[in-house]
Amino acid sequence: MKQLEEYVRSIPDFPEEGIIFRDVTSVLQDADGLQLAVDTMQDKVKDLEFDVVVGPESRGFIFGTPIAYNLKKPFVLIRKKGKLPCETVSIDYELEYGTATIEMHKDSIKPGQKILIVDDLIATGGTTEAMIRLIESLGGEVVGIVVMIELAGLKGRERLKDYRLESAICYE
Ligand code: 5GP
Repeated sequence: MKQLEEYVRSIPDFPEEGIIFRDVTSVLQDADGLQLAVDTMQDKVKDLEFDVVVGPESRGFIFGTPIAYNLKKPFVLIRKKGKLPCETVSIDYELEYGTATIEMHKDSIKPGQKILIVDDLIATGGTTEAMIRLIESLGGEVVGIVVMIELAGLKGRERLKDYRLESAICYE
């Protein structure tokens, strides 16, 4: 049986020179790859107790929803600004170039709920840190973060040292 790493396609010089882009579409478009990715991520958090899975647009939706479904938990969306129809809370955060804004519905998390964040990849951890601040502003308690890929060289783990972070694959 193939290892999960073997389904990830690495694209040199994308989106710019010097960056190796880890492509998850090659995992998703293979039935075994998709199953292995979801199962491996889910297994990493099997000892965790949580109430809600939260995933960001767009690849967080892909991995977060099957984990929530399998474990019979609700799934809550974090979206880019202007996409959610009801009352929202939002947060701005720094990107490599410029800033971004993400939002959640105000009523999507109740104070005291334990939250598992699911995403495809952690690089600098900036996106995850913004998600944590957003969830905590609603009174949620982030008990874990699980990603398919961790780019260890970008030190997201250090930035999120107060939180439990699990990754299915780690690239140096
Ligand atoms: P961070 O905020 O941790 O620096 O960046 C994480 C976000 O950038 C992830 O949500 C991910 O979608 C995107 N990203 C950064 N580098 C890569 C990459 O090599 N491959 C993929 N698939 N996404 C990336």
